[in-house]
Amino acid sequence: MVPQYKHLVNGEMIETSEWLDVLNPATEEVVGQVPACGAAELDQAVASARAAFKTWKNSTFEERQAACLAIAGAIKENGQDLYRLLTTEQGKPHAQAKGEIFGAAGLAKAQSTLQLDDEIIQDDDTRHHRHRRVPVGVVGGIVPWNFPVSMAIQKIIPALMSGCTIVLKPSPFTPLTTLKIAELIADKVPAGTVNIITGEDSLGPLITGHADIDKITFTGSTATGKKIMEGASADLKRITLELGGNDASIVLPDADPAKVAQQLFWSSFMNAGQVCIAAKRVYIHEDIYDELSAAIADYAKTVVVGDGSEQGTGVGPIQNKKQYERVLELIEDAKDNGYKFLTGGDTDPSGTGYFVPLTILDNPPEDARIVAEEQFGPVMPLMKFSSEDEVIERANASEYGLAGAVWTGDPEKGVEIAEKLETGTVWINEFMHLSPFAPFGGHKQSGFGAEYGKEGLKEFTYPQVITVKKDNVVA
Ligand code: NAD
Repeated sequence: MVPQYKHLVNGEMIETSEWLDVLNPATEEVVGQVPACGAAELDQAVASARAAFKTWKNSTFEERQAACLAIAGAIKENGQDLYRLLTTEQGKPHAQAKGEIFGAAGLAKAQSTLQLDDEIIQDDDTRHHRHRRVPVGVVGGIVPWNFPVSMAIQKIIPALMSGCTIVLKPSPFTPLTTLKIAELIADKVPAGTVNIITGEDSLGPLITGHADIDKITFTGSTATGKKIMEGASADLKRITLELGGNDASIVLPDADPAKVAQQLFWSSFMNAGQVCIAAKRVYIHEDIYDELSAAIADYAKTVVVGDGSEQGTGVGPIQNKKQYERVLELIEDAKDNGYKFLTGGDTDPSGTGYFVPLTILDNPPEDARIVAEEQFGPVMPLMKFSSEDEVIERANASEYGLAGAVWTGDPEKGVEIAEKLETGTVWINEFMHLSPFAPFGGHKQSGFGAEYGKEGLKEFTYPQVITVKKDNVVA
């Protein structure tokens, strides 16, 4: 019997009569069923969030923090079961699933310290002028399938800390762990403050278009982000969009190939490459290109692709069939164009599970589809460059602007290049590190607004300015 999950509305776990199947991408077997919610369930969730907002908007910092710490604690205490469930539905290896679950608990705890203090603009004999932040209201949170738990938490926590209430929709491909967390927190946060409902993609536009939702916080593809912006324009909902990326890594000639090869490998292949901030274009200086590309390819041959629940697996399957077919299509296109492969290149979809061999390309042209498009799969194009100006121009020649990295023995030189890159985040000699206290957001078509830190919290609030004229008492 396949386990059936319930959704969370107004502090209660609720069943529906319609169900959606959820598959394990390694076995293609159904591993759970979740409610197929539609407009009626959404209305109930929004009504519950609206009712809860009336009191939650006036909650104290301590009450908000207690709710967020309760969520962090529930995830941490149940982490051993949650990470296994996450691998079952998402595919990532156990070690990476563990990282996501315990990382989400840590993020919730860290962000429960965030608050926006009042700012006194003027306070003298004539006027007291105060800037405060007030919660926008009911938030609609829409989450993708690559990091279902961290993305849910990074929407729920700032919503609660700002005094908003939320209706959250996981991806239909990966709703199980989020609904399990819903069950764990149902009686730990005030009823109606957090509502979690599941449904097909078609539930997304209903959220964006709902007249009683005040803000949308979305993580997903740039194509869907544009639809959300359009939908939200009808009643000028506030929006935060965390979208796609085509991040460039730049390896300078003074980087030590033996030291950086493995880190570069994982910067592209973590979570089977299904990371918005994965290195999707790797530019290596011509002086070290041959040595470093050989070291990366040699290391790739030691990494096992397989079922994430099996010991020894380094890279799991692609999360869903549609994305699997898209990645295979990009590899086929590279083969058709005669580009050279250092590893991978097989595109036989006949086996069970959505597995793609680790694919490293040897200096494909800049306009190759597999370079110019976001692959979102276990694919790493290595490209040669000869001058700094040239590589900066190539790195910036993208409609995306999410993140990037510079690898060098000279961190100051790394910073100099970082400041010329048109992206929201740049790492020098590391990858994928995000601080709960620094704004994370994309430039250009990688996003709109930011998450994390006070900057992210602000996005859940309106500014309000209250002015008291002191020398004009009227009564
Ligand atoms: P997606 O856009 O297909 O789906 C994301 C979510 O939006 C899902 O919950 C889906 O059901 C919902 N949705 C689909 N159509 C909708 C619509 N018309 N209106 C409202 N909601 C709708 O994205 P995905 O395939 O799940 O995720 C992969 C993409 O997400 C990649 O492009 C990746 O780079 C991006 N991503 C970005 C970040 C970031 O922080 N910048 C993080 C993770 C993933």
